[in-house]
Amino acid sequence: MNIHEYQAKEIFRRFGIPVPRGRVAETPLEAKSAAQELGGRCVLKAQIHAGGRGKAGGVKLAGSAEEAEKKAGEMLGKKLVTHQTGPQGREVRRLLVEEQLNIDREFYLAMVLDRSLSRVSVIASAEGGVEIEEVARRSPEKILKEAIDPVVGLLPFQCRRLAYDLGLAGAQAGALAPILQGLYRAFVELDCSLAEVNPLLQTREGKLVALDGKMNFDNNALFRHPEINALRDLNEEDPRESEASELGLSYIALDGNIGCMVNGAGLAMATMDIIKLYGGEPANFLDVGGGATKDRVTAAFKLLLSDKHVQGVLVNIFGGIMRCDVIAQGVVEAAREMRVAVPLVVRLQGTNVDLGKKILSESGLAITPAETMAEAAEKIVKAVKEASGVRGKG
Ligand code: GDP
Ligand code: MN
Repeated sequence: MNIHEYQAKEIFRRFGIPVPRGRVAETPLEAKSAAQELGGRCVLKAQIHAGGRGKAGGVKLAGSAEEAEKKAGEMLGKKLVTHQTGPQGREVRRLLVEEQLNIDREFYLAMVLDRSLSRVSVIASAEGGVEIEEVARRSPEKILKEAIDPVVGLLPFQCRRLAYDLGLAGAQAGALAPILQGLYRAFVELDCSLAEVNPLLQTREGKLVALDGKMNFDNNALFRHPEINALRDLNEEDPRESEASELGLSYIALDGNIGCMVNGAGLAMATMDIIKLYGGEPANFLDVGGGATKDRVTAAFKLLLSDKHVQGVLVNIFGGIMRCDVIAQGVVEAAREMRVAVPLVVRLQGTNVDLGKKILSESGLAITPAETMAEAAEKIVKAVKEASGVRGKG
């Protein structure tokens, strides 16, 4: 799960990481009064779950409270397109109004989970404020890494080494340690998958300040952080993905036109692959998991069909714990209720498969059965092509 910059900064503050003074504004008037509190001169920052705002016009400087009000009016309610939002962009519903700081240097700082080492690691670079992926490509030697031993935590010598390698000296080198320690504590205590400060600023006055903040949380640990879960912004999520997660299903939206209902992540991947092999493009995949009930299957199926890009559905289920007859009942019920007009290919294997097939064939619905995955993929790709061809001519 992602949160907004202003929320990440509140967490940073709690963990002793210096952040600029500022306040959130949802209207131009609120932006004006926030700017007044800061003495007029301020920065307006669009709060969306995507980076690259600076280059895209999502970070604006204002010299007075009046200018802040005017610029806020231009930013709020607009779609902001950055290289991370996709072409459709994101609506700006809130601005973070902050004091302007005088930039001397910009660093990159992050805590990530290094899976190859099974350790939380610090990533740092003296080339901050730009895309870190770009730095890694262009000059990988400028990326510093420090793996943290979970037993002893981040040690003072590691903080000093990072500080000196970043080119910090004296008071600034000393100031880096509590920032690193705070970020590490936040990462571990809150079950983060990423905690990033880009840029970490050295101001002309010599202070280190987190100018930007990004935090991702491990969804599987959210149950023990209700206060973090409460920071969730559903406006930033695909509504179908949110609905699916509420139903306990995994739904991933993709760009094609074939909806896929599967069970298990491995089967999902294999299904995507075989659809592509036969020249089709998946619109999404919905993993109903191992022990779905008939009602959950019905809900899942409705969710799939609610995507207007779906021009055909492939159900590919291996019944282990999940029984094929339960899947079949769910599919039939949903197909009746939703009056499915798109081609539907169903391939079932495993527990109670004969009963499942019987339910499908006796339903009187136009369901195309398939024995193997290859047959299923071939049939759905063909059916969708034919259906769109007919529509094209009509
Ligand atoms: P991102 O582009 O979405 O990552 O947004 P950031 O919060 O990183 O801001 C992008 C850039 O805006 C920063 O790298 C700075 O160069 C600039 N910026 C942000 N706040 C200030 C500020 O207080 N003063 C000045 N001069 N520039 C700022
Ligand atoms: Mn940034």
